[in-house]
Amino acid sequence: MDLLVVGSGFFGLTIARQAAEERGMNVTVIERRSHIGGNAWSSVDEETGIEVHRYGTHLFHTSNERVWEYVNRFTSFNSYQHRVYANRHGEIYPLPINLGTINQFFRSALGPDAARALVEEQAQELGGRIPENLEEKAISLIGRPLYEAFIKGYTAKQWQTDPTVLDPSIISRLPVRFTYDNRYFRDTYEGLPLDGYGAWFERLVDHPRITIATDIDFFDADHPLSKSHTVGSVPVVYTGPVDRYFDYAQGHLSWRTLDFETTVEQTGDYQGCSVMNYSDQSVPYTRIHEFQHLHPERSRTGATNTVIMKEFSRFAEGEDEPYYPVNSPSDRDMLVRYRELIDGEDRVLFGGRLGSYQYLDMHMAIASALTRFDEVVSTW
Ligand code: FAD
Ligand code: UDP
Repeated sequence: MDLLVVGSGFFGLTIARQAAEERGMNVTVIERRSHIGGNAWSSVDEETGIEVHRYGTHLFHTSNERVWEYVNRFTSFNSYQHRVYANRHGEIYPLPINLGTINQFFRSALGPDAARALVEEQAQELGGRIPENLEEKAISLIGRPLYEAFIKGYTAKQWQTDPTVLDPSIISRLPVRFTYDNRYFRDTYEGLPLDGYGAWFERLVDHPRITIATDIDFFDADHPLSKSHTVGSVPVVYTGPVDRYFDYAQGHLSWRTLDFETTVEQTGDYQGCSVMNYSDQSVPYTRIHEFQHLHPERSRTGATNTVIMKEFSRFAEGEDEPYYPVNSPSDRDMLVRYRELIDGEDRVLFGGRLGSYQYLDMHMAIASALTRFDEVVSTW
């Protein structure tokens, strides 16, 4: 073995493939779960034949030419374009906030200039200050009434953290448009892998120099591929949580975890779209996913059932899966101290969403893996 990769998400598997292909390294990938692919994994539900994203809907989109070219080696994409709707007080609005949302909410028929002027007036309370947190950022973009209707309650459910200490970048991902364009993403390329993420991952690791071992935890000291048996004697790419690697020496970084409640409903179409957000704090879940809509090219004429998934968010504790870094000021201080420990490790690359404690979309995890391979792993 020339390289051990811990974790089989997009970051780990992209590095594994590059190392095997570009450098002829014999790579072993260990994965704690019983399947590869990390959080992006999907598989077909036996009862309905629907492709289900087991950890919530994963939309692939990118404007990065290198990433697009790379991913197309392993999968083709359908022409799905993501559009999200929001249920607020029992009324359905289009998201992200656009002229349709604004006019429906204010019961108006404003044109782009008038709508922009209205929002700017409502954002005056900031007095021109540069927004320093999520609440201020949201108010600067859409004004307080729209913030309170569509962001405040949803964010309270999603983060359970005062929006005045949340990072403004969280909300910067959500565009605001003064047109009726309600496409969620603006990237050059967008689509779902034609035969699912599971098949994509299988092709990514289909290389004679890559060995996959699932159901193995890097911290199971009795295992020959665990941290205590490998670090120092073989180069390691680690994509698990950075604080866990150092046995929480600098404290526990805070994460959000998700609970997913998946059911088969006896109707051909439950909600008419793939993702419906629930803006009201009184509704316990943040959104409902309905996976069949992600693959309009897969005909389900006459079908009488569908798979839906309700998503609930809460603070991760103990053995909970970490999904979203909370990134509060104290987390950021702690991360600086962990980075000092990382610098002291010999031939261990920390990467991916958990290893870097960063929110990364799939295309960002892949782009980062390609770059980190060139800069670091290929020099080992
Ligand atoms: P992961 O996929 O998390 O992989 C890390 C792997 O390491 C996991 O399989 C884990 O089990 C394994 N591991 C951890 N610790 C150990 C250990 N001790 N021993 C062995 N294995 C270990 N991105 C998009 O582009 N579009 C989307 O629509 C989108 N939606 C998302 C929705 C949700 C609910 C979530 C949580 C994420 C979403 N993402 C989306 C982000 C996407 O999931 C990530 O970009 C991608 O998973 C990052 O890959 P990764 O390899 O960094 O991490
Ligand atoms: N958000 C919100 N209302 C919505 C959708 C999103 O307040 O209807 C906020 C919320 O804080 C969320 C952030 O915008 O965490 C980013 O939303 P996105 O849909 O990108 O989140 P993800 O799909 O990553 O959970």
